[in-house]
Amino acid sequence: MIIGVYMMNIYGIKRKDLEDYFVSNGEKKFKALQVFEWIYEKRINTFDEMSNISKDVREKINNDFNMNMIKIIKKQEDDLAKKYLFELEDKNHIEAVLMEHDYGISICVSSEVGCNMGCRFCESGRLKRVRNLEAYEMVEQILLIEKDIKKRISSVVIMGIGEPLDNYENVVNSIRIINNPKGINIGARHISVSTSGLVPNIYRLAEENIQCTLSISLHATNNEKRSKMMPVNNRYPIEELIQACKDYIAKTNRRISFEYALAKDNNDNLEDAKELVKLLKGMICHVNLIPINKIENGAFDKSSNENIIKFRDYLNEHGIVATIRRELGSDIDAACGQLRRKNLK
Ligand code: SAH
Ligand code: SF4
Repeated sequence: MIIGVYMMNIYGIKRKDLEDYFVSNGEKKFKALQVFEWIYEKRINTFDEMSNISKDVREKINNDFNMNMIKIIKKQEDDLAKKYLFELEDKNHIEAVLMEHDYGISICVSSEVGCNMGCRFCESGRLKRVRNLEAYEMVEQILLIEKDIKKRISSVVIMGIGEPLDNYENVVNSIRIINNPKGINIGARHISVSTSGLVPNIYRLAEENIQCTLSISLHATNNEKRSKMMPVNNRYPIEELIQACKDYIAKTNRRISFEYALAKDNNDNLEDAKELVKLLKGMICHVNLIPINKIENGAFDKSSNENIIKFRDYLNEHGIVATIRRELGSDIDAACGQLRRKNLK
């Protein structure tokens, strides 16, 4: 942690690092706990509200840290979801989506401005990565939405704009803050990271001792098809990806969720379903089928409902648990990156 060179955002600081900061400034480390209670439990808007912290220390904190640096600039809502467009300090835009379920409220947050993976069905992939998000920018997406709805959320999926494992350190730091009992306090089992399959960082994540859920955007069952949809497959082919998933399951004891977006006449027939069963046989996993959301001038069209249901039934009949993800907010441009793009026009 560099202090003194430039101001750090308090929401990007892990509890342990804040303890070190206080100790190195000759203060007791429990000050970090007090600050965490003020910012995450009481949800203050300025450091001056921390009434049990002395004026001197508050001044020091005011000099070294800032807070609340991103803002909501647009909201769109339908029956299924509420979408938020955020403006960052440097005027870049990102988005997050809130969904209410019978088991609680979840938020899908962004991890980068744009994405370098270039998946051919994805809006974010068209807008190359402008920059990584800092940990605080991920944490603040959650805090601002909770403030807006005046409720606490129960789960977080890092599945908005960006490839989380291509912004590894910041994403892992943000997860630690989201997961910390004195931070946002969301259990690791209720935090999911979705990746297009950056194999070395899947191995790394397995070693972090976090126990979050891993979602793999698989979308195809052989290398030829997958590489056409997702260029990242040329770097990390399916066999290597599946091996990394098996390692993740063995090390974390967590089931993996495979995302499979169905595109008409591309990856949605029973031959594909058969290959998928073969590929995932014996793994503790779940398959999430997503009707592909066609992007402007995109190469892939949505499968018919009939094909999607047949596909799901085939998987379920052959020992792979599969569900169809409700089409979240396609009315409100909820598919990855679409609201942001519209706003850029
Ligand atoms: N980069 C990460 C997380 C962000 S993308 C990843 O790729 O996993 C979140 C999910 O939305 C991924 O499963 C991605 O494949 C899917 N997705 C992107 N564009 C889509 C579209 N047009 N229709 C359906 N799913 C899409
Ligand atoms: Fe990036 Fe994920 Fe979109 Fe692929 S699907 S371009 S990895 S955000």
